[in-house]
Amino acid sequence: MRIILIIFVLIFYSSLSHAAEFKGKFKQGSFILGKTKPGSQVIIDQKKIRVSKDGFFAFGLGRDRKNVLKRKYKIQRIDGLPPKQVTPPPEVYERIKKDNRLIGKARLIDSPLSFFKNKFIYPIDKYIITGVYGSQRILNGKPRRPHYGIDFHAPEGTPVKAMMDGIVTLASKDMYFTGGTIIFDHGHGISTLYMHMKDIDVKVGQKIKQGEIVGTLGQSGRATGPHLDMRLNWYEVKLDPISILEK
Ligand SMILES: [Zn+2]
Repeated sequence: MRIILIIFVLIFYSSLSHAAEFKGKFKQGSFILGKTKPGSQVIIDQKKIRVSKDGFFAFGLGRDRKNVLKRKYKIQRIDGLPPKQVTPPPEVYERIKKDNRLIGKARLIDSPLSFFKNKFIYPIDKYIITGVYGSQRILNGKPRRPHYGIDFHAPEGTPVKAMMDGIVTLASKDMYFTGGTIIFDHGHGISTLYMHMKDIDVKVGQKIKQGEIVGTLGQSGRATGPHLDMRLNWYEVKLDPISILEK
């Protein structure tokens, strides 16, 4: 059996056999699409990852991944948020924990679907990008977790499309931070996530086609105005959605 071992050394990768091709940049936050001979084994970070029947595999490099090209992230300050949105009151801790468990479970789904290898489309047609991947956030003067999505600002009620074929693995109308939330599985741990939705027109387990309307843009959850916050994951690793749109 052919084994492809990917090791990150300084800013280069080495593939022992050079028997794989890659689409995507080896830089922080990137989605990478690989292609090898069907039947090969691919090992990344000492873990064997899925290879499709036709030889495709996917992986991603986290925001602060070492030994790949480094990125400089923006600092984003948002002031004037209601204090309970910045530091949630204790009575909602359980609810937040439950939301996080559900989101975490959906992101860990490891399916043999291989839609991730195809060209993704933008989820809405007309928008202004108001937030980018990786920014360090300072909310009401307090440093908070980085922002991992792209924020597409558009009027409330704008139809939102599926970026790629997939299966709905989470559809929740009311999560504390993320409001109306949908997660789509595109195979091999690659999932897209939509938050702050107004309406959700899909159900868990439903198969969706690229371009299908899955709901409408809103400002539910922790949002300062109507926008779609769209995220890309490789299992638990949060990736820059731009890297799958531009691959
Ligand atoms: Zn956002």
